[in-house]
Amino acid sequence: MRIVLMGPPGAGKGTQAKKLAEFFGVPQIATGDILRAAVQEGTPLGKKAKEYMDKGLLVPDDVMTGIVKERLQEKNTENGFILDGFPRTIPQAESLEKILEEMGVKLDAVVNIVVPRQELIERFAGRRVCEVCGSTYHIKYNPPQKEGICDKCGGKLITRADDDVRTVEKRIDVYERETKPLVDYYQRKNMLVNIDGNRPIETVFEDIKSRLRGEG
Ligand code: ADP
Ligand code: ADP
Ligand code: ZN
Repeated sequence: MRIVLMGPPGAGKGTQAKKLAEFFGVPQIATGDILRAAVQEGTPLGKKAKEYMDKGLLVPDDVMTGIVKERLQEKNTENGFILDGFPRTIPQAESLEKILEEMGVKLDAVVNIVVPRQELIERFAGRRVCEVCGSTYHIKYNPPQKEGICDKCGGKLITRADDDVRTVEKRIDVYERETKPLVDYYQRKNMLVNIDGNRPIETVFEDIKSRLRGEG
């Protein structure tokens, strides 16, 4: 299964990507997670990426394309992958097409998770992520069993630096301007699967699975 998950920041891409990756037995490739790991390690990539991420801006296309190309060539993507957070611009989508063509594979679908702006803002306010394994929680909609502690690995839950209201507003604006045109792009290629993301996590997950099986 080769899938791209699209949608505004906070739509639930990471949440659904993890569930889909587990269900299909393929890796989740989350460009945001890759960048945050580089920032933590203080690599040259991390230092460069941080400047953009802190402002809510997109990291340049050539940097992102290089990261994804390298990652897709690792062995465990043989049976597929769930791409979460890439592509985010038309040039990134065009590069992805070239990379996959070179690999001799095709995307099965582009899943577009649709959520109204006001609901997104609410989600950010409660988002907590595990600083160790990257698992995502919400203090109201998807709380951990023990407050502040990751269910999966016992790691500490933190609020992401770019989840403050001002940066979030900015990121949603950037999405509208630079990423939303991809909806039309993939629609024209007949690859788009629109999903109403404004429902409980399990309902959204079941809907994505059944749509990928071609039931509806
Ligand atoms: P969210 O899903 O909440 O928008 P991500 O974790 O996917 O957040 O991304 C966090 C930040 O990392 C983005 O705001 C952006 O700065 C950077 N980033 C992630 N993926 C990309 C990409 N494909 N192109 C450019 N920047 C990216
Ligand atoms: P994205 O990767 O698109 O930025 P996340 O998966 O990190 O989004 O989800 C954003 C926040 O909203 C998280 O706190 C998550 O637990 C919560 N969330 C995800 N999906 C839903 C949903 N269907 N209903 C309510 N809250 C959700
Ligand atoms: Zn964890």
